[in-house]
Amino acid sequence: MSRRKPLPKLLYADSRGNIYDHPYLTMAGMSGNEAQLPEAVELIPLPEDSRLFTIPDTPPVAWDSRERRFVTVSQVKEGKRSMPVQAVSAFMAPGYMRTLLPACDYSKKKVHLPLWSYTAVGWDAEEERFVVAATRVDANENWLPKNYDDRKLDPLVRRRLAEFPKNRLVEQLSRCAVDYHCFAAKNLFFRRWEAPIPTSPVCNSRCLGCISLQPSDCCPSNHERIPFVPTPEEIVELMLPHLEEAPEPIVSYGQGCEGDPIMQADTVATATRMLKERASRGTVNFNSNGSIPDRIRLLCDAGMDSMRFSMNSVQEELYNRYYRPKGYRFADVVESVRTAKGKGLFTMINYLVSPGVTDSPAEVEALLAFIEKTGVDMLQMRNLSIDPAFYNERMGVTGKGIGMYRLLERVKEAFPRIQYGYFNRTRENFYPAGFEKGWPIVV
Ligand code: SF4
Ligand code: SF4
Repeated sequence: MSRRKPLPKLLYADSRGNIYDHPYLTMAGMSGNEAQLPEAVELIPLPEDSRLFTIPDTPPVAWDSRERRFVTVSQVKEGKRSMPVQAVSAFMAPGYMRTLLPACDYSKKKVHLPLWSYTAVGWDAEEERFVVAATRVDANENWLPKNYDDRKLDPLVRRRLAEFPKNRLVEQLSRCAVDYHCFAAKNLFFRRWEAPIPTSPVCNSRCLGCISLQPSDCCPSNHERIPFVPTPEEIVELMLPHLEEAPEPIVSYGQGCEGDPIMQADTVATATRMLKERASRGTVNFNSNGSIPDRIRLLCDAGMDSMRFSMNSVQEELYNRYYRPKGYRFADVVESVRTAKGKGLFTMINYLVSPGVTDSPAEVEALLAFIEKTGVDMLQMRNLSIDPAFYNERMGVTGKGIGMYRLLERVKEAFPRIQYGYFNRTRENFYPAGFEKGWPIVV
């Protein structure tokens, strides 16, 4: 007879950040603002290369099986003394989608949390390991930190700077690689996998969690945007050798923390045409907010292989609250996705997900309709990096979601051809053998 595995223990930290597991309280997570117990299917070992954080001055919430209720744990007894405690959160290695937020009493939080993605974490006492509420959505291991050894990087950066002395883009990317530790920029210097092409100092959205610009009420951004628009010649000089020589070569516009490359569509279209005429191999990808469908048409015709469109929600109201668009509407984004798919490109959504918002019944229904309408190929389930309490408040969250794991199941059931992922793909790998059964991924 199979025995039910005991639930993981609560983790908490003392005021100095030392982490402990609680002798009897059980780990909880949060969907929106509501505490809940994780299902067995969504508990996996903390992925290698993840990190643990404390959530300062914020007491954890746990399940007390003796009292059969959730409790806020402000103090823990140490011998005869009681000590104040704070919650612990995981920041996972990429490739994993969190299914629950850390359970805490966020009303006690005094600081605005920096732009990381916060995940519920506990302690599996039986296996003696940390566990998180998450599911793996991408099996690509290229992006693991162990593949980015800076000792090997520095000589390569110096070499490329000397190789292209007049190219402003290589100078910018050296800063991205060395100062911001951007893995994509490092790939350019390692000449492998996916390399980024930053092109745009400006954007027509004002996202609450933009990592390159924070206009007002959130927190400081951690990257400075590229201050110029490179010429098509600068782009081609740097990216053509990458396409020709790198293993699994992808070059990607709009890879994360610049403005949006749709604002530089003419430059991008010219550079892409040149790259596609001259390169005998490789994938050219465009990441964008997709705000201007005519420009998307232009870029498809220039020879782009794939496009990825970012959104936090497929409901216009929630999209507007996060993206705060300037001069476009969510309907334009939908038209862009349809256009890219209609032109035969591999079309992806960079879906910025958060438990309680993304798996709310209204969002799930809207997502199913969106997939039907656009024909999109892949959902990249990206954990939105933002203070969870701030985001829930701005999104007006009420109630809890159906469960992030259940959401993935539901979408797969309705559209077996939908692929989940976290990273962009080479064109050879757009539709790998057996892709309809590509999730769940066994960890
Ligand atoms: S993602 Fe950001 S840090 Fe990386 S290359 Fe692009 S602009 Fe630079
Ligand atoms: S679309 Fe991208 S660049 Fe523009 S505000 Fe949003 S996160 Fe920032």
